[in-house]
Amino acid sequence: MAASSNSRRPMDSGQARIPLGEVHVIPERCKECGFCVGYCPEQVLAFSEEINAKGYHYPVIATGKEEACVHCGFCNLICPELAIYTVELARQGGKASYPGADA
Ligand code: SF4
Ligand code: SF4
Repeated sequence: MAASSNSRRPMDSGQARIPLGEVHVIPERCKECGFCVGYCPEQVLAFSEEINAKGYHYPVIATGKEEACVHCGFCNLICPELAIYTVELARQGGKASYPGADA
């Protein structure tokens, strides 16, 4: 018997709540290594047009990604300069949808 595409979906996935993160950057610490921009799983970040005092471009929120951060904390963990972190915000209007979950 062929496995359903839903065979690995958690039974309570309809209750899943996706966090919303607010990104904070300390531009003067950034050395433009690109780890946070390159490895954010939601492609939330892009490099600034401006440069900091050391001449580096620093991460900013990419166009259209203002509410895309899921507060996974990966940028905070991977940044070697401790230049970026996120805080969790309350989502307005109840829980966010989980990909593949029932409404
Ligand atoms: S917390 Fe996660 S989703 Fe948000 S900007 Fe950092 S890496 Fe991206
Ligand atoms: S990981 Fe840190 S140092 Fe590297 S680009 Fe991002 S904020 Fe800048």
